[in-house]
Amino acid sequence: MPSCIFCKIISDEAPADILYRDERVTAFRDIHPIASTHILIVPNKHIVSVNEVTPEDETLLGYLFTIAKEIAKQENVAESGYKLIVNTGPDAGQVVFHLHMHLIGGRRIRTR
Ligand code: AMP
Ligand code: ZN
Repeated sequence: MPSCIFCKIISDEAPADILYRDERVTAFRDIHPIASTHILIVPNKHIVSVNEVTPEDETLLGYLFTIAKEIAKQENVAESGYKLIVNTGPDAGQVVFHLHMHLIGGRRIRTR
């Protein structure tokens, strides 16, 4: 998706602090972190939001949790705790319409 900032990061056309990348998923630091650890875990496939998920995406979306767990360990928040958040649509404040999971940790966070 040419106009999508996350597709550009995934294809190296835009810069990001990339922590992990493979053929299915890319993870990079959020440019406006709300906690000391704030990482975005993004499927390389352009899925607009949870509303566009199909059954064929189930394995890919489950894999986001596997990567989240590994990154939480690397970032030393596995034991102290972290949140995994997927915003969907305007009322949730979704601003990038390429599905992504926020991994937020490093202090007590009150977002729900
Ligand atoms: P949301 O769509 O509300 O789930 O959040 C999108 C997130 O992407 C926000 O936390 C932004 O700070 C973050 N973001 C937007 N553009 C970039 C970028 N170029 N690199 C890293 N993070 C970004
Ligand atoms: Zn995209």
